[in-house]
Amino acid sequence: MNNSTSTLKLLEVFQKQFPNFGTNKSREIFRLINEISKIEKVPFNTILNLLEPTNYQTIKKALLQRRYPKTFHKNSLNAYYLPKYEIDLYKKAGILQKKFYPKNIYYEKDATNNELFTKTKTLFKNAAFKEISCLKDFTKENSFTLTDYNNRCDNLLLVKEKYDFFKKCPCSQNVVNCGYSIVNLGLGCIYDCSYCFLQGYQNVHGIIIPYNIDDYLVDDKIVASTKGFFNYTRIGSGEFTDSLIFDDITNFSKKIINYFKHKKNIYFEFKTPLIQERLFAAKKCALAGFSTAFHFDPVIYYDGWKQGYKETIDMIFDIVPNASIKWISIGTLRMPTTQKTVIENRFPQTDILNGELLLGKDFKLRYDSNLRIEIYKYLAQYIKSKKSKAIIYLCMENSNIWKAVFNS
Ligand code: SF4
Repeated sequence: MNNSTSTLKLLEVFQKQFPNFGTNKSREIFRLINEISKIEKVPFNTILNLLEPTNYQTIKKALLQRRYPKTFHKNSLNAYYLPKYEIDLYKKAGILQKKFYPKNIYYEKDATNNELFTKTKTLFKNAAFKEISCLKDFTKENSFTLTDYNNRCDNLLLVKEKYDFFKKCPCSQNVVNCGYSIVNLGLGCIYDCSYCFLQGYQNVHGIIIPYNIDDYLVDDKIVASTKGFFNYTRIGSGEFTDSLIFDDITNFSKKIINYFKHKKNIYFEFKTPLIQERLFAAKKCALAGFSTAFHFDPVIYYDGWKQGYKETIDMIFDIVPNASIKWISIGTLRMPTTQKTVIENRFPQTDILNGELLLGKDFKLRYDSNLRIEIYKYLAQYIKSKKSKAIIYLCMENSNIWKAVFNS
């Protein structure tokens, strides 16, 4: 029985027990039972059978209290986001690709004069090369659903970036902006991190790589903030893709390093996965005279989180020369509401949604502020205990949280 069928069967059982609940009441109660069943590893029917046939409000409160034991008494019922629980097997994340080899390469006409096009011709001889008029038309003609996300690596798009190469980090409403700028080295990734925001954000049937990076590596195009929060310009890649995952195809890192190495007070960051390799690569960079920075984002709350993050911090300071570390940012798990159902469909076994994520005024889900403060303080203090001179800052947090973490 696949997940979709089993969800329907559970719904049938549920509706037999509560035939008078309308759509919304059923949705909320059904979801709560499913979430509790997953977190406590107790069968759905066991929880259902224990429910007294009292009224909906009483049942909902009892279930919320069981699902959100730490925050239930501190929040209004509106803080709990209870969308329809509907698992579709076809949306489940596919097997991680070890090597990127697209079946189709779509390119805009001008791309054929570019070295990146020539390189893809050499690297992907078996791919079908197809000219497109522009990315906008391609997306219009190829509708995209979450199920298609699993096949994103079948297609590579070589397009001209016209506007959005360097820009200020979009950040979030009502938070302290850290002055970060971002660069668009592409969109899409071959990895499948369960928390990745791209799975709910990407709406294009493929991996996009801009072929005209040279157009932007000129002084007057570096329009992003010249004086950021830390009085330096910090430009990060890795927002919409892993910074280095396609570098064997693009060679962007060489061009970028050659350009930025002569710029004073501009720091360009490459962000990339797999912790061990990353730390040893950072060590090599530090020994070659580069600065390093680390971003703990998203920090996930789970049983044993202190020990887990302590070991990660130990690993960083054991491997990477302390003096090279300029910044360390920390941001706890947060997401737009729509991301919750995306994650539970793509990663039905993941535990990252088990935490008590509350609905904010900005329609984002995040942990309760007390828990966030506890996490930030713990991590910041442990990093400082390493005699680190790195600037520690919070990602997408409001000023009250900053004050509670750093001024108390
Ligand atoms: S490596 Fe980064 S971009 Fe790729 S899936 Fe993971 S979080 Fe997303």
